Amino acid sequence: MRRRAFLTRSAPGHIIESVKNRPFGGERKPVKAGNNMELKEAVAKLKETQRVMHAYNHAMGVMYYDIETAAPKNAIEGFSNTMATLSEITYKLSVNEENFALLDYLSEHAGELDEITRREVEEAQKGLRLLRNIPIEEYVEYQRVQSEASAVWHEAKVNNDYAMFEPHLKKLVEFTIRFAKYAAPEKDPYDYWLNEFEEGFTQDVLDKYFARIKEALVPLIHRISEKQQPDDSFIYKFYPVEKQRELSEKLMEMMGIDRACCAIGETEHPFTTGFNKRDLRITTHYYENALTYSMYSVIHEGGHATYEMGNCDELMDSPLSGGASCGMHESQSRFYENIIGRSRAFCGLVLPVIKEIFPEQLEGVDEEKFYRAVNKAEPSLVRTEADELTYSLHVLIRYEIEKKLMHGELDTKDLPAEWNRLYKEYLGVDVPSDKEGCLQDSHWSGGSFGYFPSYSLGSAYGAQILRAMQKELDVEKLVAEGNIPAVTDWLREHIHKYGQIKKPAELIRICCGEDFDPEYYISYLTEKFGRLYGLED
Ligand code: ZN
Repeated sequence: MRRRAFLTRSAPGHIIESVKNRPFGGERKPVKAGNNMELKEAVAKLKETQRVMHAYNHAMGVMYYDIETAAPKNAIEGFSNTMATLSEITYKLSVNEENFALLDYLSEHAGELDEITRREVEEAQKGLRLLRNIPIEEYVEYQRVQSEASAVWHEAKVNNDYAMFEPHLKKLVEFTIRFAKYAAPEKDPYDYWLNEFEEGFTQDVLDKYFARIKEALVPLIHRISEKQQPDDSFIYKFYPVEKQRELSEKLMEMMGIDRACCAIGETEHPFTTGFNKRDLRITTHYYENALTYSMYSVIHEGGHATYEMGNCDELMDSPLSGGASCGMHESQSRFYENIIGRSRAFCGLVLPVIKEIFPEQLEGVDEEKFYRAVNKAEPSLVRTEADELTYSLHVLIRYEIEKKLMHGELDTKDLPAEWNRLYKEYLGVDVPSDKEGCLQDSHWSGGSFGYFPSYSLGSAYGAQILRAMQKELDVEKLVAEGNIPAVTDWLREHIHKYGQIKKPAELIRICCGEDFDPEYYISYLTEKFGRLYGLED
């Protein structure tokens, strides 16, 4: 998981007061600042606003990391107050008539701007599109509904009580549809939201994508479920946390992560955050009785961090630093975690390192046994714990449900039944409770509809990127030799250096020389798991 982009994009609930005092939508004053504003002056003004914004976001990001990792429990009150104040300042910095006029003026002169500035203007406009078009009263009401829904969801999940959450979800769905209409009246609401999260993707594209996933993977998963599963019991022996920390250091070293630019902390749920290419923070969670949980979290989050550390220097303080999209970010973290980290070559490389730290626990475990254990594919209930093969089916289920919700074809009251039906149909599992079912993810309670597909697209991008990389590099050989930095160099040159300068579809074209094509993902999974489970007959 990568945190930041959507935390800073939408204005948090506590800035409601400042919003009330400004004109919105139709009430806006006519724009005239642009007429006599010199282009150079306008660009300087943009850069100045960005510089100040960056400083505030930096400060808030560090505070956020601190509260999650190091701060004492009672720090939360002071933290919340300071965050509210700082958020209000950053909100006012971007949501005001002068800034709207500046961005409109620069948009009109887009052809005269350099590529980075042009993209900065475009992204800023995109971030403000919703806020400029929603009637203020509705926006304020939405903020209230959303924070209430989040709180209720937490409780509903703990108590396994969907009925308690349902009325809140219903309201959020209605708001989401309405907001899409305000922002882009000509678009289908779900298409609007999909494009917000992964630019260039519509239901047209995703319907075809998921149809292929379903057609290819559902029968494969069913065939595998009839096969004997590998013995992975050694993973669940006792692995002292202190020793696992040692392993994290080794893993980061193997990945070529510069520790002078990347810190590691410990949190309940692992995440990555970053402030510029020389200051990234990843976190992990250690379980004494699960060796691979933290191991693959570190590799995954290390992948997110590696992406941002590879940004070109010009993006140091630009809002375009980071990754191209959620999907592209996940493509990189999953590339390191699964395509590299769960490859036969990496298993051969890492096992001796792990054995040196845990000789007793891993006695008798050879490379093949380790490789099979970390690739055990088994239909399950929870998306975040799913294996590489079944993962996209969890996403597909959410996609189908969101589509129906956004088109009024599914009442929120009937959501659990539909969820359970789809889990049975695609993954063959019975969902015992809503807690392990439709209440498991936080996304909907936060008002995010259209986010899920980017998780699956990330995996699919990764497989296509691998194929392009293999044309130039002997990836398996490099990994087996421990030369992961050579793989990273290639990714930096083709993806990381661009940050958000290029959009995801464009990056795939630059990197792979063709458009996005899910067939690479399907053949990657079919070949890998076919071999692992002996299905090549
Ligand atoms: Zn991630």
